Amino acid sequence: MEYPGPVARLARLVVPVACPGCGLVDVRWCEGCEAPWWEPPLRCETGAPRLDALDPPLPVWSVAELDGPVHGTIAAWKDAGRRDLGALVAPALRRAAAAVAPALAAARASSPVAVVPCPARAAHTRRRGVDLPLTLARAAAAGLADAGTPAREVAALLPSRGASRGAGDRGRWRAGPARVRVAVGRLGGPVPALLVDDVVTTGATLARAAGALAGSPLVPVGALVLASAPAPGEVLRVRPAGAPSALG
Ligand SMILES: [Zn+2]
Repeated sequence: MEYPGPVARLARLVVPVACPGCGLVDVRWCEGCEAPWWEPPLRCETGAPRLDALDPPLPVWSVAELDGPVHGTIAAWKDAGRRDLGALVAPALRRAAAAVAPALAAARASSPVAVVPCPARAAHTRRRGVDLPLTLARAAAAGLADAGTPAREVAALLPSRGASRGAGDRGRWRAGPARVRVAVGRLGGPVPALLVDDVVTTGATLARAAGALAGSPLVPVGALVLASAPAPGEVLRVRPAGAPSALG
C-alpha cells in the first residue's frame, strides 16, 4: 500500500480520484465497474483468430470482456499511473487462476506450473517503475497455489533491448521471433507453462509467446488474461465444462 505523499495529497484536492470505468468521482472504483472482475473466467480463444494456428490448441481464459469500463480500468492501471488499481485487477486474476487450476491438472501431471508473463517493453517497465506483467504472473501463481497447484512465476520471455522508434509496444513485440529471448535457467523439464497477459484481442501476442517457448522446457498448456475482446462478428465465448458459476 502506497502512502500518498504531500504532493499526491495536494493533487487529490485539485484532481479528485475517480472510477476509471465510469468517471464517478471520489471513489477509487465503483461497485458497478468492479462487478465484472468477480465473474468466473471464461474460455475466449475462439474469439482470437491468431491462436488458430497453434497445434495443439491453447486454451485461453479471460476474467472479463474488454468493454468500456474494463478497458478504462486496465488502461488507467497500466498507463495512467493508477497503480492502486492493482488492488482490483491482481486479486481478480488470482481468483481466476484458482478457478482454472483444475483444468490444468491433466496437463501438468505432477509438475509444478510455471506462470510466464508476456513481457512489457523494458522502457515501459522503467517508466512505470514496476513490472506489471510480472505482477500479474505472481497473482496467477498465487491463485494456482490457492487451489493446491504448486506454481511459480518464471519470467522466461524477454523483449529485446533494441528500440525501434515509432512502433508501438505490442507492435514491436509482435514484430518477429528474433525480438524475443527465452531465458529458462535451470528448469529441467518439461514444465507446463501458463501464459499470462493483460488483454487478448487477435491472440497474436499469446501465439508468439507460445511459439517462442517451442523447443524450451516450458510447454504452454494454457493462457490467462484479464480481458478479452471478441473478434468482429464472433458470438463471444463459451463457458468451459465444469466451470464454477461463481467464485466464493
Ligand atoms: Zn465506475
